[in-house]
Amino acid sequence: MITVEKALQLTQSNIQKTTITSDILISKALGYVLAEDILSPIHMPPFRQSAMDGYALGSTDEKTFTLIGEVKAGDDTDPKLQSGEAIRIFTGAPVPSGAQAVIMQEKVTIQKNQVILSEHVVPNANIRPFGEQIKKDDIALTKGTVITAAGIGYLASLGITRILVYKKPSIAIIATGNELISPGQELKHGQIYESNSIMLSSALIKTGFTEEISYYKIEDEYDITLSILENVIDQYDVVLISGGISVGDYDFVGKALQALDVEEIFYKVKQKPGKPLYFAKKQGKTIFALPGNPASSLSCFYIYVLPSLLKISGYANYNLTRSTAISASHYQKKGQRAEFLKALVDHNNVTILDGQASSMLRSFALANTIVYLPEEVTEVNIGDTVTIINLP
Ligand code: AMP
Ligand code: MG
Repeated sequence: MITVEKALQLTQSNIQKTTITSDILISKALGYVLAEDILSPIHMPPFRQSAMDGYALGSTDEKTFTLIGEVKAGDDTDPKLQSGEAIRIFTGAPVPSGAQAVIMQEKVTIQKNQVILSEHVVPNANIRPFGEQIKKDDIALTKGTVITAAGIGYLASLGITRILVYKKPSIAIIATGNELISPGQELKHGQIYESNSIMLSSALIKTGFTEEISYYKIEDEYDITLSILENVIDQYDVVLISGGISVGDYDFVGKALQALDVEEIFYKVKQKPGKPLYFAKKQGKTIFALPGNPASSLSCFYIYVLPSLLKISGYANYNLTRSTAISASHYQKKGQRAEFLKALVDHNNVTILDGQASSMLRSFALANTIVYLPEEVTEVNIGDTVTIINLP
């Protein structure tokens, strides 16, 4: 069994960022990583723009100006403006080329067709210069940037519609277990509802992995396990298996993966929940076998799988962020393993929730963070500083 830190290090060192890129619409680009430098096709702003509703002034040393016209946003005009003249102008409108400054409308009084300034105005005041934000052919966003909503807005403002990004991995989710039936059906004795695949796919969608997810449900039978795993490893970049990786007589995932000649990187981590986590590679494919217990599955997803998926997708910062908080709970560990505890953080205070068993999801459903207790921490007292792992 290896430590959490070793398991994290092994997943990271065995996962490479993809070299496959795809050209996509910016509307689909949220959470993707840029695979090219993006040059601005235009100057932004593309003309001298008024930053205020007010008056464009033909000079800055007078106090009184003669009002000679109006320019509003979207107008395609460049009215002549002489010294001592003013033009009514609105935010976003093109500033006439003869204008020396724009004054806010709150700073003037109007008498007939005279604009009288209540204070002095400096040259170029309230004018957004041509190309102030970015010049044509300058780099707008660099390769490696993670595309956010603001980034999409920025690209749209430059008139860009498509960008080259790193492809996100295709993912197969496989639920194993004879006892599992789909929610909506009636439970027979011995059966439980299958909840891991919908949970993992929701976590994938929430974190931006929507490209291609497929689902499989398999019985605890060696031959079926072998043939489905062979197929999915062939077809998908990442294979997430839930259950069947423990040491029971009907756990066939490990045996099947061994028969398929995958390269096992590790099996079993000194952690709770999630001890039977298994990680392997095969010809550029990534395979995680997650323990079937729901809270173990989801913990392992956040701690190991998600950073791996982010790394494959080109993220430079792929690890979940850790911070510290003050514990509002007392907690005594029962064993030696590192623990990931479902918790609620509010400001800087964190409460460890009841019901931490690996079979239980209720506490996870309420949690907004994970308290991480490394092996050496055996007890937490109220007021102690603890490490928290921020859930996405
Ligand atoms: P396993 O890892 O296959 O030994 O399963 C451990 C526990 O998790 C058992 O109680 C299973 O019934 C349960 N379990 C396994 N897979 C799922 C699943 N997809 N949804 C809900 N519970 C599961
Ligand atoms: Mg099972």
